[in-house]
This record gives sequence, structure tokens and C-alpha cells, in this order.
Amino acid sequence: MTDGQGRVIDYLRISVTDRCNLRCVYCMPPEGVAWTPHGEILSYEEILRLCRLFAQLGVRKVRLTGGEPLARKGLPALVSGIHAVDGIEEIALTTNGVGLARVLPELLEGGLTAVNLSLDTLDRTQYAAITRRDALGEALAGLSAALAVPGLRVKLNCVPMGRNDDQLVPLAALAKDSPLAVRFIELMPIGLGGSLPRRTQSEVLSRLEAAFGPAQPCPQGGGFGPAQGSYVTFPGFRGRVGFISAMSHPFCSGCNRVRLTATGFLKTCLQYEYGADLRSLLRSGAGDAAIQEAIREAVHRKPVRHHFNAAGREASDERHNMNQIGG
Ligand code: SAM
Ligand code: SF4
Repeated sequence: MTDGQGRVIDYLRISVTDRCNLRCVYCMPPEGVAWTPHGEILSYEEILRLCRLFAQLGVRKVRLTGGEPLARKGLPALVSGIHAVDGIEEIALTTNGVGLARVLPELLEGGLTAVNLSLDTLDRTQYAAITRRDALGEALAGLSAALAVPGLRVKLNCVPMGRNDDQLVPLAALAKDSPLAVRFIELMPIGLGGSLPRRTQSEVLSRLEAAFGPAQPCPQGGGFGPAQGSYVTFPGFRGRVGFISAMSHPFCSGCNRVRLTATGFLKTCLQYEYGADLRSLLRSGAGDAAIQEAIREAVHRKPVRHHFNAAGREASDERHNMNQIGG
């Protein structure tokens, strides 16, 4: 499927829940948010039907995210259901890693092919301050479990936000001895993310070069689309370091993805509310052809680019927070 700009859309990110066991400062207020009632969240059957329809339209990769996707019961069953969908080649998970070690074997049995684990610090006190939960040990257990699986592609995602400046080098150093991709994601002005200091790609890179020596370009090799970021490596590293810099190095011209919120809204751009309410269609008894037409039409109107950097972001989506969109 292509959008109105001719971009091939082959990647669907699905938020399976808006609930989470952490309260990261850039994502959720300390008191939490009102969780969406269960009846408003897409059922696994509804998600699987949409996966089949998207796959017929050319989607090849699905990522499960949240909220915290592991907070939803029965996730391995959803993974194996998606694995059985004709055309889906990759099923990835984005998780904070808490509880991952326990459920990972079942997820792998279901057909999971890749894990992105979000971790902003290796310091227990700082972790508790950033996530408002004392769960670093569990997150690290999740990371070790994922790294121990032969062939599983594992990436670590860190959002530099000022207060973890001292952790950028220790986090990148994890890619020294293991074939891990450590990625630094520029904070985006979505929800609470707009109120924290951002560290740009070049600021982070300067810190890393001061510690590890000159960065060397690194072919990123395979994968799905330019929003995977640009990668470098450093002398003596087995792994690589990546940058997802939507603010300082926008990658909209090569964007290949759309997002499905936990309530079944198809979001065609991270910034805007443009898209389609697929849940209403599903629940009104619409046939496959009508749903695919709505998907095609929404994808055709996918915005050309985000304008997060522009003054007056009037058209921004004020309805969905990061825990509903899934990053
Ligand atoms: N709970 C899971 C996790 O944390 O990996 C999945 C959902 S979380 C919303 C997905 C990703 O979005 C995380 O890596 C998180 O750091 C990132 N994120 C959340 N708010 C952000 C923001 N304002 N700017 C950039 N990244 C953000
Ligand atoms: Fe939860 Fe992920 Fe948001 Fe943190 S970033 S509060 S782990 S959904």
C-alpha cells in the first residue's frame, strides 16, 4: 500500500493497551491517567482481523506496544495469532522490560522476532525517579533474558532528557561487549514530553565520542525503514549505537509506518489526529472490503511531514497521549 506521497506503508505499530506499570516522567503524570475501560480497547480478535486486512494491503511488519504491552493478559496468544497471518514477516515488541524475563519464552514460541527495550538509566535511584517505580532490577533481568536468546534482535531505547546525562555513556557502553543496538531517541513534544529538556543527536554524539573515540559509520543492515535511525559504532564495539532524531533529523520522507491506538484509531502521523476510527467500523459490522477502503483512504491522506518544530502546532493531536499511541 502506498500513501498520497508514494511512500510504501508496510509497517503497523499496534498499541495493545494504554495501561502501564511505570509512570515515566515524559509519558505519564505521577498520579497516572484514567485507564480506558476494557470494552473500549480492541479485543485480540479485532486486532487479528485488522492484522489480516493490513497484511493483505501489504503490511509486513507488526510491532506490539502500549502502554506496557506485557500488562495485557494473554499477549503470547496474540503473538502466535499474528504469526499465523499470511504475509507478516516480523513481529516485534516494545517494552519497558519489567516482567519480560518470565514471559519471553512463550512470546518466542508464539513467533516474536525482535524486542526493543526502553531503559533510560542504569542507576537504580535515577531509574526510580524517572519511572516512579523501583524496578531497575526487573528491567535488567528482562534485558539479560532477551540478550541470551540466539538470533533474537534486541535494541535498547533511551530518551536523553537532561537528568540522565551521566548515563548516556554507560548505556552506550552496553553495545561494547554484546551485539546490541543502543538507540538514543530525541524527546518529542507530545504530552508531557514537551515540558522536559531535550538533548539533540549531536549533543549525545559529542558525549559518546569524548568517551569512546571517533564514531564510525555503520551500515544498519536490513530492517524496515529509515525511522530505524542512523547508526554508528566505536573502536572495539561489537554492537552499534543509533539515533532516532525526529526533531533534529526528521525522517518523514521515508516514513513507512502507521499506528493503531489501543482503542482502534488508525493514526497516520505521530503528530496529528488524522486517520480513521477502525473500531467503529469493526463494531458496526462493516465487511472486510469497507474496512480496507477506510484504511486505504486514511493512508492516502497521511500527512507529508510532522511540524513539531514549528511555532503554533495548532493541528496537533491533543486526544492521544504516548501511552495510547505506543511511541
Ligand atoms: N511501555 C513500553 C516502553 O516504554 O517501551 C512501550 C510504550 S512507550 C510509549 C514506547 C516508547 O516511547 C518508549 O521507548 C518511550 O521511551 C518512548 N516515548 C514516550 N514518550 C516519548 C516522547 N515524548 N518522546 C520520545 N519518546 C517517547
Ligand atoms: Fe509506561 Fe512506556 Fe510510558 Fe514509561 S514510556 S510510562 S514504560 S508506556
